[in-house]
Amino acid sequence: MEKTYLDILKPDDWHVHLREGDILSRVLPFTYNNFGSALVMPNLDNPVTNISLAETYYAEICRQIPKGIKFTPHMTLYLTNYLNKDEIKRVSNHQYIKAIKMYPKGATTNSDSGISNVIEFYPLFEAMEKNEVILSIHGEVTDENVDVFEREKIFIERVLTKVINNFPNLRIVLEHITSADAVRFIKKHKNISATITNHHLMVNRNIMLSKGIRPDFYCAPILKTEHDRLALVQAAISGNCKFFLGTDSAPHVNSKKIAACGCAGIFSSPLAIPLLIQLFEEHGSLSNIEKFISKNGREFYGMKQQEERVQYIKKSKSINTIKNIETIEGKIAVFNPFKDLYWEKANEV
Ligand SMILES: [Zn+2]
Repeated sequence: MEKTYLDILKPDDWHVHLREGDILSRVLPFTYNNFGSALVMPNLDNPVTNISLAETYYAEICRQIPKGIKFTPHMTLYLTNYLNKDEIKRVSNHQYIKAIKMYPKGATTNSDSGISNVIEFYPLFEAMEKNEVILSIHGEVTDENVDVFEREKIFIERVLTKVINNFPNLRIVLEHITSADAVRFIKKHKNISATITNHHLMVNRNIMLSKGIRPDFYCAPILKTEHDRLALVQAAISGNCKFFLGTDSAPHVNSKKIAACGCAGIFSSPLAIPLLIQLFEEHGSLSNIEKFISKNGREFYGMKQQEERVQYIKKSKSINTIKNIETIEGKIAVFNPFKDLYWEKANEV
């Protein structure tokens, strides 16, 4: 019989951009209403490069979580030259800073402080390995001679392989993987796991480019082929503990995104879970969704499993979905690539 009810441990989002100020207050409810916790990325206009800045940002987020909502923000530090071994040691004992994020310079929004030469950071990787601090990686080279669709592949070959060989016990998350190559790499190596986004599971570069350009699907790393998308879907629905959800929800106002030089990033928090339930259902894998969205990430980050549960109900007719949110700077479109969506959180019915 067709399943119309789903009862799961509350999901976590292991990669989200919450921004600051008005945008933060507009997007945050979609994260605390749908997830038990989230790993918050540090690429603010002034990057979160040390513990003190992460604590200030954490306080700004916590101030906006209503009483009675059980939600935990986990924080990240932006890897730069300003980081040192002492600070890394302090991160290892920190209550809520859970990872250090490496951005190649210029790879995505606010990545100008990112790194150009990975080898310079080896002493810090050594400290992270020793102190069991997790390295979270935006895995793309930004060499202009490398084709934009090959950036992840070349990063794995030229950079990541060396990091793994030099620091075999360093625990790494390769963020928002996009390709069959990346899936293979993650499966093959120990101490490395990967997040996968909604958009890389649901759309491909043909959908983005073949019938007119779709700036709403433009993201970094860029969408790849249908073959790659299917490899990601297989990894997610398999329940393999090395893969878990990181939405990479990244709000930009429509005027900046649907523009002559539109920016990369997709705002996906509001419908992330219903979309994933529908995707897993289509692949006959609903029994594994809890692993992908609730269990595997906590296991990797060494946290006890969530206790709270949430229920989703399948409607017989497609539900009304949110299309945009309003902010002081303008509207932000909500990612929903499926024409009709049927699953809804039970308490919203
Ligand atoms: Zn991101």
